[in-house]
Amino acid sequence: MSDTAYALDVAPPLPSEAALPDRTDAIIVGGGLTGLSAALHLTRHGLRTTLVEAGGIGDGASGRNGGQLHPGQRRDQRWLEAHGGARLADALWRLGEEALALVHALRTELKADCAWRPGLIEACHTDAAFAEATALADDMNARYRTGHEVLDHTALASAIGTRRYVGGVRDPHGGHMNPLALVRALADAAHVEGAHLHGGTRAMSVRQTPHGWSVRVTRAGRTHEILAQTVILAGNGYMRGLSPYLDARVMPLRNYIIATERLTEPVIPAGEAVADSRAVIRYFRQDSEGRMVFGGGESFGRGPSDIAAFVRPYLAEVYPQLKDMPIVAAWQGTLGITRDRMPIIRRLSPGLYAGAGFSGQGLGLATFAGKVIADAVAGEASRLDVFSRIAAPPFPGGRLFQTPLAQLAMAWFSIRDRLG
Ligand SMILES: Cc1cc2nc3c(=O)[nH]c(=O)nc-3n(C[C@H](O)[C@H](O)[C@H](O)COP(=O)(O)OP(=O)(O)OC[C@H]3O[C@@H](n4cnc5c(N)ncnc54)[C@H](O)[C@@H]3O)c2cc1C
Repeated sequence: MSDTAYALDVAPPLPSEAALPDRTDAIIVGGGLTGLSAALHLTRHGLRTTLVEAGGIGDGASGRNGGQLHPGQRRDQRWLEAHGGARLADALWRLGEEALALVHALRTELKADCAWRPGLIEACHTDAAFAEATALADDMNARYRTGHEVLDHTALASAIGTRRYVGGVRDPHGGHMNPLALVRALADAAHVEGAHLHGGTRAMSVRQTPHGWSVRVTRAGRTHEILAQTVILAGNGYMRGLSPYLDARVMPLRNYIIATERLTEPVIPAGEAVADSRAVIRYFRQDSEGRMVFGGGESFGRGPSDIAAFVRPYLAEVYPQLKDMPIVAAWQGTLGITRDRMPIIRRLSPGLYAGAGFSGQGLGLATFAGKVIADAVAGEASRLDVFSRIAAPPFPGGRLFQTPLAQLAMAWFSIRDRLG
C-alpha cells in the first residue's frame, strides 16, 4: 500500500543539497508550503535563502493533506466580525481571496500538474448546522457575491451520492487538487531560482547574537551553525522547542486519510470536494484518477497502527456502498491547530518570523503566508500587519497540559457530533 495517493501521481522529491552555508540572508525552518513559498518569494526579492527541512521536502502536512482549497479563513466571516470587527473581517476576506489567487497563479506559472477541480460542498449533519450554513450562505452572497448555493436534502443527496446529510451548501469558488504537485512545483522553482533547500536537516535551536540569528542544525549526526539576518519558523505542527511562543499556541493534531481503488461509477457527479459540519470532520472527494480520497478521524497522541482500518468505518458510515472497497493508500499527517483556529502569521521579534497554526486550512493560506512573510522581510509588510492584528491566545495550562486537555476536548466533540 502506498503512503499518500498523491505520491502515486507525482514525480519523486528533489535530492538534498550537499553543503550547508555558514552565512545566508534568510534561513527558513520547514519545507512545506509555508517554507517553500517563502523561499521562492525571498529569492525573487534577491535574498540569499537557505531552507532546512528535518525530513523530506513536502513530507509534512503540505504533501499529505486533503487537497481542498477553501476561500476565506478557517473561521467564517460572521465569527471574524464578532471577534475582530467588520473592518478586520473584510480585510481578512480579501487576503483569503489573494491566497486563492496566489495558488492559481503559481500552479499556472509553474505548470504544476495539480489536477485542479472547482467546487466545494459543505454537508450538514444536523438541522441546526444546516440552518447556520444557510444563513451564512445568504450573508456571503449578499456581502461578497460568492455564488453560494443552498442544497436541500434531495439536491445534496444527488450531488454527493449519499443521503446521510440533512442539507448543504455548494461553494463554486473553492475546489480541490493534488497538493503534493504544488509542493513539488514550488520546490523545483525555488531551487532553480537560487534558494538552497536542505532535506534531512533539523534545526535544533535559534538564538539571537550580536551579528544576527544563529540557527544550529544537525544533519547526518553532524552539527552546523548558520548565521542569518532573518529566520522564518515554518515547521507548523511538526515543530517543537524552537519558539516558546509557538509551542504555547500551536498544538499538533494527527489526521487520517485513505484512498480507495478507482470507483467504476462516480459518486459525486459534478466532482466537487465535500467537507461535513462535524467538529471531528469528514472530508472527501474523488481525485482525477477516480479514487475516493476520504479523511476522517483524528488523534492527539499516538495514532492507530492500522490507518486503513481506523478510517474505513468513517467511509462506510457516509458511503455504505463503499465499505468493502479496496484501499490503495492510507496515511496520516500532523496539522498545527491554534486555540481560536486562526493562523499565526507575524513577526515575533526583529528578524524572526512565524507562519503556522493553519488549523486544517493551509493549502491556500500557508502558501500565501510564505509570500506575505517574504514580502514583509523585503519591506512590504501591509499584509503581515493585517494578520498580526488577529489575537493569538495561548492554550490554557501551557505545553504540559495541552495533550490531556485536547484529548478531553476531542472526546467531548465526538460525543457532541454523535448526539447531533
Ligand atoms: C491530514 C491532513 C489533511 C489536511 N487537509 C487540508 C485540506 O484539505 N485543505 C487545507 O487547506 N488544509 C488541509 N490541511 C492543512 C494543511 O496541510 C496545512 O495547513 C499546511 O500544509 C501547512 O503547511 P506548512 O508548510 O506550514 O507545514 P507543513 O507542511 O507541516 O511543513 C512543516 C515542515 O517543517 C518541518 N520541520 C518541523 N520542525 C523542523 C525543524 N526543527 N527543523 C527542520 N524542519 C522542521 C517538518 O518536517 C515539516 O515538513 C490538512 C492537514 C493534514 C495533516
